Amino acid sequence: MRKITYLSLGSNVGDRRANLQQAIERLSELGEVTAVSSYYETEPVDFLAQPWFLNCAVAVATDKMPRQFLAALQRIEREMGRKRIQPKGPRAIDLDILLFGSSVVETAQLTIPHPALHERRFVLVPLAEIAPDARHPVFKRTVRELRDALPPGQQVRKVAGSR
Ligand code: ADP
Ligand code: MG
Repeated sequence: MRKITYLSLGSNVGDRRANLQQAIERLSELGEVTAVSSYYETEPVDFLAQPWFLNCAVAVATDKMPRQFLAALQRIEREMGRKRIQPKGPRAIDLDILLFGSSVVETAQLTIPHPALHERRFVLVPLAEIAPDARHPVFKRTVRELRDALPPGQQVRKVAGSR
């Protein structure tokens, strides 16, 4: 059964724009890419002493199940040369599942909706650009509502002409 999944893509190592573009091309192996947000320059949040990220949000319509989909994302991360040196640290590409239809998943390997979705401006601003009315199945709030409820701080700047 085809579902729409929303992903957050991030890169802060190497040619960040090329990394996002390459990842988006690879995502078409997993389903139909139906929307891509602008690119945003974003301030690191968890581990601060690292370069700014380039982030975007992508919608993919897929027949895969969430766990299969995560495994496929991790394969793309690996093949794009992502090295896990430091948790939350610099990376060529990070692919996170934000929403997966209205599924709720809670396992050791996978949490959907993404556990930090509602508190990250670098996730909610790009996501609100492509899916303002998508609804968080646990909090019952739309992406637009979650974005508007964020506390100030966390710098997120749209890159002119990225889309
Ligand atoms: P982070 O994205 O938190 O900076 P990683 O990309 O290294 O860190 O992911 C760590 C682990 O998070 C992955 O091995 C994966 O199993 C798990 N994970 C749990 N929920 C999700 C999700 N919704 N999307 C992506 N990864 C997830
Ligand atoms: Mg990740």
